[in-house]
Amino acid sequence: MVEGDGKALFPFCHSYLYDGDEFIAFDPQCGKGRLKLAMKNLEKSISDIDFIYNSHFHLDHTAMNAFLKRKSNAEIMIHEADRIALDDLDVYVKRYGMTDNKLEPEWRELLKNLGFKAGIVDRTFKDGEILPGGFQVIHTPGHAPGHCCFYKSEILISGDIDLTTPWVGNLSSSVADYLNTIDKLKKFEIKLVLPGHRQIVSEKIPERLESFRQRFINRETKILNALPSEPITLDDFTKQLFQSYSESQRKQPEHTQAQFALHFGIISTLNYLKHLETLGKVQNIVQNGQEYWVRLP
Ligand SMILES: [Zn+2]
Ligand SMILES: [Zn+2]
Repeated sequence: MVEGDGKALFPFCHSYLYDGDEFIAFDPQCGKGRLKLAMKNLEKSISDIDFIYNSHFHLDHTAMNAFLKRKSNAEIMIHEADRIALDDLDVYVKRYGMTDNKLEPEWRELLKNLGFKAGIVDRTFKDGEILPGGFQVIHTPGHAPGHCCFYKSEILISGDIDLTTPWVGNLSSSVADYLNTIDKLKKFEIKLVLPGHRQIVSEKIPERLESFRQRFINRETKILNALPSEPITLDDFTKQLFQSYSESQRKQPEHTQAQFALHFGIISTLNYLKHLETLGKVQNIVQNGQEYWVRLP
């Protein structure tokens, strides 16, 4: 494990290195200095990396791909469903809900500053495929459509499934898929979870998966209970929801960060509402060209 810069908070994550017949870097977005040092400790250099496996397209897992590609012949691999976001910057921006949004220029600037480069993925992998190094791909959509975990010897390299923070703040995120993903992971014998953020999990993994699932259900229940029976717009509803934890929002040091938090909060709320709609508990209605959400009796 190479711990990510800045406590592995966005835009960094923990990376994992596998030194076998092939040298593999998983989500190499731990920061350049840390990666170089880790390679040196293994008596290797960045040019020795053979493969880069990305768990999903998010920049806090992929932005260093381009830098590493320049320094080595590493083959970059990702699931088909996320490849398009790495191949096409417009798709990337759209998935984040930034298209034609006032935050879009800043978002594009951030991508550029982090060295993000489109169109450098070499190939894609599929669910169940065994990759070089003997890692089995487990397609785990929800957080992102092409999110995958890598499984070998009862160890799960889990990307953003950190068993702590359920994040569905992209237009391409899906609560229903995420819940199915957790159920899918429960079927695997897992002794160790190596996530991209937060802590390694080595104990009570079935229980942790269940409590992680419960977090989604709790959040969804909170949203359902807070939704009025009178129609309300998504923006107004999210602001209302946010007021209940506005203290934590106010602690955000920079105004823009709070704006980003609200932006992703709105999309996340939308994803929960969409899921509740499939359960027949809420309804999306249009009045005078404006969309509203309403709780059903
Ligand atoms: Zn992510
Ligand atoms: Zn992440």
